[in-house]
Amino acid sequence: MANSSPEFDLIARYFTRPAANAVLGVGDDCALVDVSNGMDLAVSTDTMVSGTHFFPDVNPENLGHKALAVNLSDIAAMGAMPYWAMLALTVPNVNHDWLAAFAKGFFDLAQEYNVSLIGGDTTRGPLTLTVTIMGEVPAGAALRRGGAKVGNDVWVSGNVGDAALAVAHRYGKIVLDAADYHEAVMRLYEPTPRVSLGQALRGLATAAIDISDGLLADLTHICRLSGVGATVDLASVPVSAIGAKHINTDEGRNAILAGGDDYELCFTAHPNSRDSIEDLTDILGIPITRIGQIKRGKGVSLLHDGKAVKIDGSGYDHFKGA
Ligand code: ADP
Ligand code: MG
Repeated sequence: MANSSPEFDLIARYFTRPAANAVLGVGDDCALVDVSNGMDLAVSTDTMVSGTHFFPDVNPENLGHKALAVNLSDIAAMGAMPYWAMLALTVPNVNHDWLAAFAKGFFDLAQEYNVSLIGGDTTRGPLTLTVTIMGEVPAGAALRRGGAKVGNDVWVSGNVGDAALAVAHRYGKIVLDAADYHEAVMRLYEPTPRVSLGQALRGLATAAIDISDGLLADLTHICRLSGVGATVDLASVPVSAIGAKHINTDEGRNAILAGGDDYELCFTAHPNSRDSIEDLTDILGIPITRIGQIKRGKGVSLLHDGKAVKIDGSGYDHFKGA
């Protein structure tokens, strides 16, 4: 075949950009990267399926942003520095306006973090996006899920719930007014990965995770891997002004605590680190709130005025009931 085909043209047109940090980017059988001495390579993949991870009517520019943002968030949660991304794109047809907008959302965010798209794959089928991200972290310094210790504090960055409140609104479980929906849905479509915070937490956090499944579910993952339990004080969970209007309803509270897609970081740290962590709020301009404690035992209990409260839903599980 000549070196021109619709697939080749599409890759050349939308997904080939100079790969500043790579030895070799898009175009060959493999990309080549040079990993620095003394660093571990941090690698993660996330897939987004139309109808499962996003509403089919989502604006493609938002989707391009989100496909990369959720991966940057995994790099953030390890305390790593992102450098390289791969994009496996499955589209039902070639829609140039769609591809141009998707590529814009993707590359605008990539540029912000100095990430190079170094390869991928392009196929036809139901709309599905898989991004693989790679970065570096000093050997041995990555923030793992398994390091929480009894007596540690539990912290969360930013505020949680807006993304899930927008989803709950779309499903008719709660009602947001138009302005609130518009603001909340942007948290869903264009999450901010906490990359600088993740790196700043190296040496401070004993365990970390990014909140994709829901605050309680993701903290439960830390607990399971660390062999500990945790308590979370409902009143200290940080919410936006929108969240504050809904946290006293059952559906609103469920969305805030058990709904995902915020991409904030939840982490644990020794109480001696409180001042250093609070300083990060000023240095990075990101609110960081202490919400609970690591305890002996298993699982996460939610406390309201010191009493345990039950919450349904324990986060999103793709295979629940399968
Ligand atoms: P192969 O047949 O060897 O898998 P492809 O024709 O699939 O090669 O891809 C050609 C080049 O384009 C490769 O370097 C691949 O990494 C890159 N590529 C393909 N699709 C994408 C995409 N959506 N985004 C970025 N790079 C891509
Ligand atoms: Mg291929």
